[in-house]
Amino acid sequence: MGATTYAKELSPIESLKRKIVEEGIVLGDQVLKVDSFLNHRVDPVLMAEIGDTFARLFAESGVVKVLTIESSGIAPALMTALRLNVPLIFARKRKSLTLQSDLYTEKAYSFTKREENEITVSKRFIKAGDRVLIVDDFLANGQAALALARIVEQAGAEVAGIGIVIEKSFQSGRQQLLEAGYRVESLARIASLEDGTIRFAD
Ligand code: 5GP
Repeated sequence: MGATTYAKELSPIESLKRKIVEEGIVLGDQVLKVDSFLNHRVDPVLMAEIGDTFARLFAESGVVKVLTIESSGIAPALMTALRLNVPLIFARKRKSLTLQSDLYTEKAYSFTKREENEITVSKRFIKAGDRVLIVDDFLANGQAALALARIVEQAGAEVAGIGIVIEKSFQSGRQQLLEAGYRVESLARIASLEDGTIRFAD
């Protein structure tokens, strides 16, 4: 299957939900595999629509940088950065060979890999006072987004908001991010994956 062909008739959020229903694979009650359009093969038309949607939602937020985490956040975050006309920075999951003192570092427990990652961003790329939009592919328990937010705050910068492509609303992430005071915009919200069935929250 190629890029989305029905994008013109459906709103971006409807296109995304349709893709999730048609191509998503439910693994257990907790994990949704979307490697045919987001996490391995990437649908560029859908990514452009996602970028347009986040850019519209955060148009008034004074965003000067978009921040995500490698690798699955990069496609939607890049399209968002393009539409907002600002740079994209992706946090790396392994230490690079440069000096530690040049890096902001945070620990993030990975929901899918069941291991703690160290994530790093070069101090050259986020500066005090920057308003940073965090974008990620999934929100589960909020560990990735919270680690990115801590990096923004280490830099003396501000989190302008958090844009999530697919939120699993039955996990604690949204609650945690709201309690921390962040604005969260999720394009598709999944209420349940029980019995192998995808049920949306709205
Ligand atoms: P959290 O940090 O919110 O617990 O989990 C979000 C991160 O874990 C995302 O960066 C995403 O890569 C991964 N993730 C969490 N749940 C899922 C899922 O159901 N499917 C996929 N493909 N990735 C997930």
